[in-house]
Amino acid sequence: MKGPKKSSNMSNIILRNYLNGEWVTSDTSEFGDVFNPAIGKKIATVPFSTKADVDEAVKHAKDAFEEWRETPPMTRARYLFRLKEAFEDEFEVIARTLTTEQGKAIDEARGEVRRMIENVEHATGVTTLMCGYTLEDIAKGIDCYGHRQPIGVFAGIAPYNFPAMVPWWFLPYALVTGNTFVLKPSEQVPMTQTKVFEIVDEIDLPEGVVNMVHGSREVVNALLDHPDIEGISFVGSTPTAKTIYRRCGETGKRVQSLGGAKNIVAIMSDADLDNGMPSLITSFYGCSGQRCLSGSILAPVGDIAEKLIEKFTKAAKTITVGDGLNDLTGMGPVISEAHKNRVLGYIEKGLEEGADLILDGRDCRVEGLPDGFFVGPTIFDNVTPDMTIAKEEIFGPVVSIVRTKDMDEVVDLINTRDYANATCIYTRSGAAAREFKYRVKPSMIGVNIGIAAPMSYFPFGGAGNSMFGDIKGHGQEIFQFFTDTKVVIERW
Ligand code: NAD
Repeated sequence: MKGPKKSSNMSNIILRNYLNGEWVTSDTSEFGDVFNPAIGKKIATVPFSTKADVDEAVKHAKDAFEEWRETPPMTRARYLFRLKEAFEDEFEVIARTLTTEQGKAIDEARGEVRRMIENVEHATGVTTLMCGYTLEDIAKGIDCYGHRQPIGVFAGIAPYNFPAMVPWWFLPYALVTGNTFVLKPSEQVPMTQTKVFEIVDEIDLPEGVVNMVHGSREVVNALLDHPDIEGISFVGSTPTAKTIYRRCGETGKRVQSLGGAKNIVAIMSDADLDNGMPSLITSFYGCSGQRCLSGSILAPVGDIAEKLIEKFTKAAKTITVGDGLNDLTGMGPVISEAHKNRVLGYIEKGLEEGADLILDGRDCRVEGLPDGFFVGPTIFDNVTPDMTIAKEEIFGPVVSIVRTKDMDEVVDLINTRDYANATCIYTRSGAAAREFKYRVKPSMIGVNIGIAAPMSYFPFGGAGNSMFGDIKGHGQEIFQFFTDTKVVIERW
């Protein structure tokens, strides 16, 4: 059923899909609840769309492809220039929608929307970044050149923790290189992309070039099985990322599949703790620990442990927990009741396995918000590398302190985790920083920076069980993911 062109009607509790430039109600009989996690109340209903919805989206995207690929790259980029301006105009609305359904503090939401827009900006460099290369006389009188061509329909599948930014690690690049796109946002936070697609609708892209299908596993499975989807960009937990990677291999699709994390922050004995503390605290507690770049293990190296733990605990106690929409809030809720219980389960596990709970966030109450999904800042000391809380991704505001004696021990700790997304070192020594950068396995590294987040023009993604595939999110290489390099060898 087609609806009015210009609005997804957010006040309507049932969200709609965006297909071929129209807002369309899914015929599904299955729905999910969208919550405001700060108040613990339902705020919208998301359809768990069907295979038929996916088929329709892919058909429109496929129909739109030929004309879109013939549209000159600079003309395609001009749509993105318009989109950037339209996003700037609605910047605050997107950020507030994001916080309302995801929970993070409003300033973090603003930072996320800024990162989303930066990907649109970077993608406009298509006329240099999509260029091929050429060489005359590879043999006498024979020339060779390779040029990049778009491939067809791509799909993106997103996680809940960055509802605005993550889909835009991929979508603008797919578009500007001449492909068409189907997005499935996380069913836990579908309102942000609904707002974003309302803005996309304003710039009058040709119909079918971008489409959005809300839903859960059935939508993902339909995308994975669809013969007309050429490639998948996925971000989410490692078990799902592995499944996506395997199934794309089976069906011959291109794939970039980014998974979970267990990030270690090493504090060398010469670290500048006073200057470093704000970024350390943000690393562990920003977004309530629900970032793939969040610090999870704090690893003092050598004799700095006591001083570090005292200062870190003192700073953690000053964090104001509350509704992210309140400007004074430092840390919002976690995403859901189920996830809160999962995080609390990890705290119980830490106690069972003998770690020392030195800051307990279990009984976190926020005045006026009795039903919010809050967990307070939590710290375990004397965690050992074999404990569950030192191995598994908790994805909450729980810090595990693993004391290490020297560089060898902290590097070993980092390189023996299953995940290898990001890691950071705090030090005043260039030699220590160089050794660390050289030896650690994770591929996003911070030096005196707590969140090692690559900007849109550098690649985003880890190693080990944090990333499956070889081309990461955004950066320059993503132009390769969305294109096929055709080589022509020519003699006249
Ligand atoms: P998730 O894996 O539960 O869900 C991600 C997406 O996959 C959602 O759209 C969901 O609908 C779909 N999905 C979930 N289970 C599925 C299944 N069995 N079959 C098919 N589809 C399925 O992840 P999440 O909880 O939404 O997000 C948090 C995770 O994402 C964390 O592990 C975090 O580290 C990771 N993450 C990683 C990065 C990165 O850059 N590596 C960035 C952000 C988040």
